[in-house]
Formats: sequence, structure tokens, C-alpha cells
Amino acid sequence: MFATLSDRLADTFKNLRGKGRLSEADIDATAREIRIALLEADVALPVVKDFVAAVKQRAREEDVSGALNPAQQVIKIVHDELVTILGGETRRMRFAKQGPTVVMLAGLQGAGKTTLAAKMALWLKEQGRSPLLVACDLQRPNAVNQLQVNGERAGVKVFAPEPGNGVGDPVAVARASVEEAKRTLHDVVIVDTAGRLGVDAELMQQAADIRDAVSPDEVLFVVDAMIGQDAVGTAQAFLDGVGYDGVVLTKLDGDARGGAALSIRQVTGRPVMFASAGEKLSDFDVFHPDRMASRILDMGDVLTLIEQAEKTFDQEQALKAAEKLSGRGGEFTLDDFLEQMQQVRKLGSMSKILGMLPGMGQMREQLENFDEREIDRIQAIIRSMTPAERANPKMIDGSRRARIAKGSGRAVSDVNSLVDRFFEARKMMMQMARGGGMPGMPGMPG
Ligand code: GDP
Repeated sequence: MFATLSDRLADTFKNLRGKGRLSEADIDATAREIRIALLEADVALPVVKDFVAAVKQRAREEDVSGALNPAQQVIKIVHDELVTILGGETRRMRFAKQGPTVVMLAGLQGAGKTTLAAKMALWLKEQGRSPLLVACDLQRPNAVNQLQVNGERAGVKVFAPEPGNGVGDPVAVARASVEEAKRTLHDVVIVDTAGRLGVDAELMQQAADIRDAVSPDEVLFVVDAMIGQDAVGTAQAFLDGVGYDGVVLTKLDGDARGGAALSIRQVTGRPVMFASAGEKLSDFDVFHPDRMASRILDMGDVLTLIEQAEKTFDQEQALKAAEKLSGRGGEFTLDDFLEQMQQVRKLGSMSKILGMLPGMGQMREQLENFDEREIDRIQAIIRSMTPAERANPKMIDGSRRARIAKGSGRAVSDVNSLVDRFFEARKMMMQMARGGGMPGMPGMPG
């Protein structure tokens, strides 16, 4: 899910790399690309329009903070706006203060309601609750049996009409289930209702009757995220026909474009509360707008990193280093190198920082082998140099290297390798500062 959208947005942000400031034309071009990316992902047009307008306005208005370069700034804005259209705060389930909490599931046939009922029951059970599953889908052949099988797998009791008792009245079953829950001390009742292949009046009426009979604490609309634009129309029809408090997105593991997930909140005004991403009973979780946004942007926890950077980064120092790197503020020295290393360290342990960066999955091995003490060793060596040597590393000849090695308790080869690496890093950073790469956070891998 969202793979194409993620790739598209990543390309957009890449085009902003190395830019010192965003011109009006940059902002327009970026807005255009984001618009296309969202439309291609099947996001509803009104949602796209609002989204792009908000991003544009903020990109124009916001101060470029010292710790963020324009590319990072835009990523942050897009992230924030994604969180907003996904509903902002995580919406948690409401439980009744007295008596059993009643949750009713509604949606089209095949949306994943029956599977979801069992997943939710297991999730509740794991939180120490005692759910009762109720089979009110008396329409679809085998639905009752399917719920019974799933309930058994989840280790949760299923309330169903006795077989052979006629066709059964789903409203009566729902009503009786609440009485049964009270009697047997189940604290949550999950009512699985019938779906149709398409929206129809009879289906809506039945769902509304069940709703009126049991006054649910939560009515949840279950929708298959893979049906694309249709999801939005269906969501609207159920909102008008039955009404609901929240949405559950299923099949987020599919390779659909994800537009439904991004549109539904904005179009219906109802929050996405849960997400299901697989056929296993454990493939179920509370929906967190912020985490989903980060996932769409393939950001790992880069936002946490950016926020920490904003908090800890010494802006003056960063500016000074940036000036030096671009050749305006004198030479970049070993003192600056050391200072930057300390700035980076302030952000947290090196491996933690690397772990928060996106795309670091493949680098796990290197991450695990990363030696924190390397920074200490570098510090010891630089501190054993004289101020003149730090300011002008070119003067560090053979005999000075031997003395520095002795002073810091390291081998001459360590000093050699540090000095070589310093020159290499300086060259690389100057290239980055003069265009290309991700400037603005010196010393950080971009
Ligand atoms: P209902 O008609 O709404 O009750 O839908 P079902 O619960 O019977 O689900 C329809 C089909 O979708 C079944 O084959 C489920 O295994 C499958 N399904 C449900 N949820 C998910 C999910 O999150 N991911 C995937 N891949 N399949 C799912």
C-alpha cells in the first residue's frame, strides 16, 4: 500500500535537495508534483485540492528554521498535512461506563467484517476484556459458521441463532445478544451485520434497525481499502443510511494505491479508528494518523530526529559551519570538525540516530557494528593537537603526528587516518554545501 505514492513524493523531495531557498517557482513545481502524486494514488479530488493549497501556503509562510533545509522543511509540512487529513489525533475506542460496550460493524460484503470482528475480539481479549461475538449476518450463506470458526481461533465466545430455528431475525439476535452479555458478564459485544455486494436500501434498513435495537457505543464502518475511489462513495452511502462513529480500513496489506485511506476522513468527517493489514487474526491495530503519515513518507522516525535537531542544534554554530563550508567564513578546521561531532552526539547516540533515518533497513548490519567509542577516540586525538594544528591541519607533519599519537594514547596510524578522513570529509562537505547533497545538517548522513 502507498508504495507508488511514497516513491513519487520521494522524487519530489529529491528535486529540492541542495536548494538554499525555495523560490515561488520551486514551490509551484513542488505543489504540482504533490498534486499529481496524490491523484495517481486515487485520492479524492477535493481532498487533493485542499491538501496542495495548505502545503503551498505553509511553504511560503514558514520561516526556514536553522536546523532544517528547504527539502526537510517541505517534508515536514507534507507530513503534518498528511496527519491532518488522516484525522490528526489517534481516535481511541469508547467503552460504556455501565453494562456491556456495544460495537456494531457495518459495510459491504467482502469488506472483511467477519474477519475483523474476530481480530477485534482477540485484540480486546489481550487487553483483559471479555468480548462476545454476535453473528447477525444471516444473509450470506456460511457467515455464521465463518464467525464461529474465527471466534474459536480467537478463543472468544460466539452468540448465534440456533441452527434450524428458521431464517432468524438479525434484529432479534442482536437484542438477545446484549441480554446474554449482561447475563454472562461479557463486557464488550461485537455485532457483525450483513453486507451486500453493493449498497442497497434493504441492507441499510436492516443495519439501521439493528442500530436502533442495541444503541451501540460505536458503530464502525468497515471498508476494503483496495476498492479505491469506490470506497469514498460507499462510505458516504453508509453515512447517510446508517451513520457511524468511525471507520475501519481493511486490506491495507494490498498493493492498491491507498487513496481511499487518505480521502475517507476528509470526505466523511469520521475518523479512521482501526486498520487491518492481513488475513491473520493478529493483523489488526489501532490506526495512528502520525505513524501512517511517516510510513507514507518512508521516513522511519526521521521526524523525531528533525524535532530533536530543532531543539538541540546550536543554530549559530551551524550557520558558522555552513559559511565556512561554502568558502565564505574562512577555513573549516579540525576545531569545527570536533564541534560538529559534539553537536551530532548531542542528538543522541549515533546508532540511535542512524536507526531513525529512513532507508536504513539494509544498513542494519553496519549499524550493529557501529562503535560509539570511535567518536571518543577522535576527540582524544584532536584534543592532543595544539590550537595552531587544529586551525591548520596541513601543518601536521610526521613528527607532530608522532607527538599527537603519544599525547592521546593512540597509534600514529590512528592519527594518520583521522587527518586523512578530515581532509576527505572537508572536501565532501564543501561539495555538498556548494550544491547537491543535503546541506544544513553538517556531519549528518543525508
Ligand atoms: P465480510 O463479508 O465483510 O464479512 O468479509 P470477510 O471477513 O469474509 O472477508 C472477505 C475476504 O477478505 C476474506 O477472504 C478475508 O480473508 C479477506 N480479508 C479480510 N481482511 C483482510 C486483510 O486485512 N487483508 C487481506 N489480505 N485480506 C483480508
